[in-house]
Amino acid sequence: MSSFKAPEKSLGQHFLTDRSYIDRIVMAVNPKPGDRLVEIGPGQGAITFPLLKKHGELTVIEFDRDLITPLMEGSEGVGRLTIIHKDVLQVDFSRLAGDEGPLRLVGNLPYNISSPILFHALEHAGAVRDMHFMLQKEVVDRMACGPGTKVYGRLSVMLQAYCTVTALFDVPPGAFRPPPKVDSAVVRLVPRDPATIGITDPVLFENVVRDAFGQRRKTLRNALSQVCSGAQIEAAGLRPDARAEQLEVADFVRLTAHLAKLPPAERTA
Ligand code: SAM
Repeated sequence: MSSFKAPEKSLGQHFLTDRSYIDRIVMAVNPKPGDRLVEIGPGQGAITFPLLKKHGELTVIEFDRDLITPLMEGSEGVGRLTIIHKDVLQVDFSRLAGDEGPLRLVGNLPYNISSPILFHALEHAGAVRDMHFMLQKEVVDRMACGPGTKVYGRLSVMLQAYCTVTALFDVPPGAFRPPPKVDSAVVRLVPRDPATIGITDPVLFENVVRDAFGQRRKTLRNALSQVCSGAQIEAAGLRPDARAEQLEVADFVRLTAHLAKLPPAERTA
């Protein structure tokens, strides 16, 4: 019987040990028969084994080779565990989902690559039903907040445009081994129905949001000077002297839709 080795800092290994938070994550996911659960970074199985016990089957994606055998052995007699030994950023979720229905992603993510994992999952939003992720609390606050708050920014708009984002609960450092230096939080993301998103040009949307928040103290007219004119901002129904942090997600969507419709000669970007 293999045993688990010491946590690997470079892989963001902070293992969840507090049973009450593990239970709350499993309750939040609330798996139902037929759900296709995929856990990112199962580690030593803190969330894996309770989920497997409840649901009977689970696919996990783990990069650390040393964790594969212990995970496999730990699953014996608990349920059907499929282990994908790979960097999650190389996993094609659309292919994994195939035509058997969308995936439900779960994970206490490695904090050093949490944003790339989020955006990777969003690229496959059509193959994902929902996501329950543990992240740094500071990141969850930025993801879930609305306009007018200090932390509202590019991450908030980019995620909320494509998903509904709900911060569920906070988790203190003492719930992990070793404890991280920061507070953590669990968030639920549910990809929106593509028909309701309204973004026809995702690259333009990304550019607008990036530039708008690039220098958040600037007015839209100045911050977006590489993308559009003040008159075009006004024609989209927005005030050119407003600042990005005052705009709703829907305002960014509307501005992008307006710019995308302009004839090429009138487009700055
Ligand atoms: N789920 C476990 C828990 O809650 O105790 C472990 C969480 S730990 C914060 C993050 C996990 O992600 C580790 O097991 C780590 O090895 C794994 N990991 C790190 N980078 C990864 C990557 N690129 N692809 C897949 N797994 C990765």
